[in-house]
Amino acid sequence: AKRVYLFSEGNRDERELLGGKGANLCEMTALGLPVPFGFIITTDTCREYFQAGNKFPGLLEQEYRVALDLVEKKMGARFGDPENPLLFSVRSGAPVSMPGMMDTILNLGLNDEIAAGLAQKTDNPRFAYDSYRRFIAMFADVVLGIPGEKFEHEIEKYKAAHGKTLDVEMSAEDWQAIIEIYKTIANFPEDPFVQLKMAVEAVFKSWHTPRANIYREMNNIPDSMGTAVCVQAMVFGNFGDDSGSGVAFTRNPSTGEHAFFGEFLFNAAGEDVVAGIRTPLPVAALEERQPEVYAELYKTQALLEKHYRDMQDLEFTVQEGRFYMLQTRSGKRTGRAAVKIAVDMVGEGLINEREALMRVSPEHVEAFLHPTVDPEAKTDIIATGLPASPGGATGEVVFSADEAEQVASTGRSVVLVRRETTPEDIHGMKVAAGVLTELGGMTSHAAVVARGMGVCAITGCGSLHVDTAAGVASTHDGVTLKRGDVITLDGTTGDVMLGDIPKIAASSSDDFQTLLSWADKHRKLKVRANAETPEDAARARELGAEGIGLCRTEHMFFEAERIEKIRGMILSESNEERQQYLDQLLEFQRADILELFKVMDGLPVTIRLLDPPLHEFLPHGEEDMQELAKAIGKPVETVREITENLSEVNPMLGFRGCRLSIVHPEITEMQVKAIMGAAVEAVKQGFKPKPEIMIPLVINVREIRMITEIIDRGVQQVLREAGVSVPYRVGTMMETPRATLGADRLAKAVEFMSFGTNDLTQMTYGFSRDDAGKFIPSYLDKKLIDVDPFVSLDQRAVGRLMEIAVNESRAAKKGIKYGICGEHGGDPRSIRFCHKLGLDYVSCSPFRVPIARIAAAQAHV
Ligand code: PEP
Ligand code: MG
Repeated sequence: AKRVYLFSEGNRDERELLGGKGANLCEMTALGLPVPFGFIITTDTCREYFQAGNKFPGLLEQEYRVALDLVEKKMGARFGDPENPLLFSVRSGAPVSMPGMMDTILNLGLNDEIAAGLAQKTDNPRFAYDSYRRFIAMFADVVLGIPGEKFEHEIEKYKAAHGKTLDVEMSAEDWQAIIEIYKTIANFPEDPFVQLKMAVEAVFKSWHTPRANIYREMNNIPDSMGTAVCVQAMVFGNFGDDSGSGVAFTRNPSTGEHAFFGEFLFNAAGEDVVAGIRTPLPVAALEERQPEVYAELYKTQALLEKHYRDMQDLEFTVQEGRFYMLQTRSGKRTGRAAVKIAVDMVGEGLINEREALMRVSPEHVEAFLHPTVDPEAKTDIIATGLPASPGGATGEVVFSADEAEQVASTGRSVVLVRRETTPEDIHGMKVAAGVLTELGGMTSHAAVVARGMGVCAITGCGSLHVDTAAGVASTHDGVTLKRGDVITLDGTTGDVMLGDIPKIAASSSDDFQTLLSWADKHRKLKVRANAETPEDAARARELGAEGIGLCRTEHMFFEAERIEKIRGMILSESNEERQQYLDQLLEFQRADILELFKVMDGLPVTIRLLDPPLHEFLPHGEEDMQELAKAIGKPVETVREITENLSEVNPMLGFRGCRLSIVHPEITEMQVKAIMGAAVEAVKQGFKPKPEIMIPLVINVREIRMITEIIDRGVQQVLREAGVSVPYRVGTMMETPRATLGADRLAKAVEFMSFGTNDLTQMTYGFSRDDAGKFIPSYLDKKLIDVDPFVSLDQRAVGRLMEIAVNESRAAKKGIKYGICGEHGGDPRSIRFCHKLGLDYVSCSPFRVPIARIAAAQAHV
């Protein structure tokens, strides 16, 4: 197959083959925009290279030489010709955007002779040698594996020795001196064609650098995809003062405001803007100095946004007053911006509601749920930087990604403070509450990556000098931050504060509500919440929950006074004693459930019968034992003895769930009284309760029959005594493999079923929920599993069991209502799967409800 495509041979739909960057370069070329010409080596070729054991396909070099000839003709210059040299940038481009993840080489095709020729031809030696030194450092870094800091360090040393501080103070001679030093560090090939071949190979290999691997893992991008290689004629932003490089967004990526937003550096290469070495100027500076160039940029950005029907992130270069487009892609944006842009674009007639829904990710929605720093509470602002990623974050100062990881693993909150960030810092950014950098603009690595992760970040905080080696950061005003000091970042304003500043819970916006209303219109799955307290239930309802899908009744006893009673019940030595405790628990339970019915007026509330993993409720340690003994009026020895008797080897597989009802029917009787008593009271107060009683952890239909009998008897008794009628349903959870494989029989005995995928996953894998944390990280690390099955549903096996259960249940009992209430009910990928299975609802924690509403709509459109 064809391995090499000219920019004039592809289009935007060929991302898979040409990579996102390449496909868009082709598209822009076809649109007639000023794109420096070039060619693309396909992702297929990259895969071919790996499959052959990292060997260049036989004819590849010949193929790209043909393309290269055509590029030379078009550009009117020749690769490797000192008289009239053509230089290339060589960049990676995967089918999905991986910003800053892959390696780039600029100014390829230079050596001593050609650099001298370039100096002569352009009559601009400073530019020629600046370009040459950049090339050597990048080639050495990316291809030869010599760290970039080595070269930076030499420049610092040279500048210090010659009384210079800024790059612009460096003359052609200075750069030539630097180049001589560089050549002692890096032994690079003189032959431009050898350079090109090595660069292409390095781009292929960069697909497998650790930082690219981490990014793919975090974003669920398959390893097998591979990258394309874009080889493009260079244009030069570092040519002089009428040149420069810029990055722009067609709308504001932080707020979503419909206003062109960009940053520009005069006399600088594109890498300078992205790396954040110098802090760029607002693009208005370009409008002032080069109005025609700005006009062309402005026109181009409008055209591209309209053409792609999405907010674009552009890279452009100006060389001697001429405008060039280097890249366009869908811009990364904050959650608030994503929602505003999506809703605005529907208003502008650019996209429809369904498309708008697809533009918003779960992470984006989370941003509406993040806390922000309370402006009233702000004190001790010690520095202000750029508001790169919104939200409020408080944590201990750390100065490296490793430190961040270490401290965060002890459960403490950290703020990662760096001069600038690079992809090597990602593992630290991932665990940090906030990121603060001294250098870099709104489009720097730190800003883009943190925004993508939804991590609060402040960049370009120039008044804070960060000395990583010494482990201090100091402001102009003499405030010094040391490791472990607590600071607060306001990522929405850019303020850095001392101490832990209060935050306000996240707030909604009109646009967000609009989008959610579209989600509700375009989804089939209902969304319920897992909640036990009236506060949680109220929040859930506010966030759009359509009922409670799981009320874990044992959680209603976690409070101090109550836990004593339930412990007393568990440790009871006789039925009378147990009954005493149950009578007290009944009161609590009835009152709590009544509140839930009121909050969820008119909506279903699924109340699960007691399912206490015993070990969570038994006393731990001597002190606990003594306290409990006192509280329940038993000698410590007795408490110890009963505790020992009750303690289990495998509590997660022990005396749990409906097994409790089987052994102690009086517990179920109490709960039914509480539930229906509350329902009766709710009706009397004018509410419309819809109780659904759910039996957990069943394995066969006989359990269900026995417990249903207890339930029905109890319900009838309560209703008869009250003289009120309340509709209710009895259902069961599908949590054991055995239940899923006999679902047809179970279905006949109940009115609804709900997957408890936490337990179902535990039992399908044989991974104890409580212990899996010890080994799952190794499984992920060693790629034995792709995702933690307790986070995202395992579709192959657990999903298979679910499918069997749903199909057989529905065959046995047409239209039986089916839900899911394990943690997976709030995970977008799992929600998509549940939609495909044809479930009726998902149930998740209150804060996940809006995410679930959107994910359910995305699964359906
Ligand atoms: C489950 O097992 O998925 C479930 C919802 O129940 P719990 O987490 O309480 O065991
Ligand atoms: Mg369970």
